[in-house]
Amino acid sequence: MLRNDMLEQWDRENFFHPSTHLAEFARGNAPQRVIQTGKGSHITDRDGNTMLDAFAGLYCVNVGYGRPEITDAIAEQARELAYYHAYVGHGTEAAITLSKMILDRAPDHMSKVYFGLSGSDANETNVKLVWYYNNILGRPEKKKIISRWRGYHGSGLVTGSLTGLELFHKKFDLPLSQVLHTEAPYFFRRSDTSMDEAAFVAHCVAELEAMIEREGADTIAAFIGEPILGTGGIVPPPAGYWAAIQKVLTKHDILLIADEVVTGFGRLGSMFGSEHYGLKPDLMTIAKGLTSAYAPLSGSIVSDRMWKVLEQGTDENGPIGHGWTYSAHPIGAAAGVANLKLLDDLDLISNAGTVGTYLNAAMADAIGAHPHVGEVRGEGLLMAVEFVKDRDSRTFFDASEKVGARVAAALLEHGVIARAMPQGDILGFAPPFCLTREEADEIVQKTAAAVGSVL
Ligand code: PLP
Repeated sequence: MLRNDMLEQWDRENFFHPSTHLAEFARGNAPQRVIQTGKGSHITDRDGNTMLDAFAGLYCVNVGYGRPEITDAIAEQARELAYYHAYVGHGTEAAITLSKMILDRAPDHMSKVYFGLSGSDANETNVKLVWYYNNILGRPEKKKIISRWRGYHGSGLVTGSLTGLELFHKKFDLPLSQVLHTEAPYFFRRSDTSMDEAAFVAHCVAELEAMIEREGADTIAAFIGEPILGTGGIVPPPAGYWAAIQKVLTKHDILLIADEVVTGFGRLGSMFGSEHYGLKPDLMTIAKGLTSAYAPLSGSIVSDRMWKVLEQGTDENGPIGHGWTYSAHPIGAAAGVANLKLLDDLDLISNAGTVGTYLNAAMADAIGAHPHVGEVRGEGLLMAVEFVKDRDSRTFFDASEKVGARVAAALLEHGVIARAMPQGDILGFAPPFCLTREEADEIVQKTAAAVGSVL
């Protein structure tokens, strides 16, 4: 095994890490962590420090680390057939089986799944399918996509544009002009203190309607949203939000893309966020929880309504010119099949619901009344704690105070990983679904200690 100091030097000299302050990293002032092993809800680094991973990697290792059911399936697939492509009607048993398993779990009106590698490329596919769809229907002007401020949909050119977070636009000349952003359904931060939830939903709807009016419904193709805002702050929508938004979309014949990259396959305690909030999407984006990140795989689930038009389009135009070398990669597909089986066999989705409810309530009990805790919120095993300078006036800390990052660092000292969300003073939690009540208690006690030491 390489010496740690050698590995760290190679890391600094050769490895371009995503979302990292490069200059601080080069100077040795940014965290440098080499993770070695994982088991259940825990990971261990090269120095032998074991940590409770209360963010499941990047909210993706849903079944927990070190599951032989999945690693054996990957090894078997690699031995038998490591790769074959999916172009022009080719497939593998693993990919075909997984497509059936996904459709068996998706809402009834969904028809087919297109496989990709990441959440970003799946959303890229979705935008292209929406454009193709409107071209086939003879409405080439209907192309703009509405996203929300604080939405996260990836880091590509189109998907980075859809993402409504300044950090992902800055110095990249994004967003592209076909993308528009509307109000975030973020009651705690965006409503004024005199508003109730119903008034705030009416405000979100009015903003959307004004945008459609201004741009012209005949120029707007689709609306994309995560059932719960994720990277933008882990924010469940106010009651009635999705029903009211969908009414507007239907009225103007605007397609709905539900980005289920975080919420898909059980994180909220339901199979999909769409089921949880009553969404009827035309396209669904899936990734992370599809394989619990044991191998990269994503998908775009296409509704019956869109599928009919896409099919008809190929009669007129020939094959759809869109594909990745690694679409439906057999190793990813084998991981997906084993992962979905494991979710069923161990009843992990209902555990996400019950332990999640327990964790949310215990966290609210422990720190909800702290003078600098504005809100403890969440659904299933997706939870956030938002810090405020002053609770009553809802005054927020200055970003330069980096309160979220400081609490996350203090929590890590106690051996628990949570995520300081990229905007706002928000600590995010998204543990693996195998989390026990004892582990939930540990997260709560250590978070309370970390909050107490920083604020
Ligand atoms: N959509 C959502 C809701 C996400 O949270 C993410 C990633 O966190 C993505 C899309 C992009 O996925 P990926 O990082 O696999 O490209």
